Amino acid sequence: MNCPKCNAELVQKSYKGMFDVEVCPQCQGMWLDLHELDKLEDVVFNIDERKGSLIHYQTKTTFPCPHCGKPLDEFQYRLYDLKLDACTEHNHGFWLDAGEDERVIEAMKHRAHDIKRKINAESEWKKILKNMHSFLDKK
Ligand SMILES: [Zn+2]
Ligand SMILES: [Zn+2]
Repeated sequence: MNCPKCNAELVQKSYKGMFDVEVCPQCQGMWLDLHELDKLEDVVFNIDERKGSLIHYQTKTTFPCPHCGKPLDEFQYRLYDLKLDACTEHNHGFWLDAGEDERVIEAMKHRAHDIKRKINAESEWKKILKNMHSFLDKK
């Protein structure tokens, strides 16, 4: 499989010990297969999130899906200003630019601090991934 953005060959890596991702050695972006996300243990959604109201479809990109070569669609996850490119044609998975995940996890930690509530940034992040998964799945 090749990177949708710079065409370098992707390398398989373990993502935080949770599942495998394909990482680009050149731009450090990563591809997450949708079926890999099935390996995530269940996380609890609130109703709004389950409805997918936090995820907005934005626009078609010119970046090809590493599996089928169809152009990826850009989505935005509103709460954290997170942009994801996903294969909506065949639900293969989605692409994250370098450092996007860490940026979001950082944002979660700040938010947790601001609202003086203990949230576990990592499980919040898992929630986003699972959310994206179920969102793509039903399309
Ligand atoms: Zn790349
Ligand atoms: Zn695809």
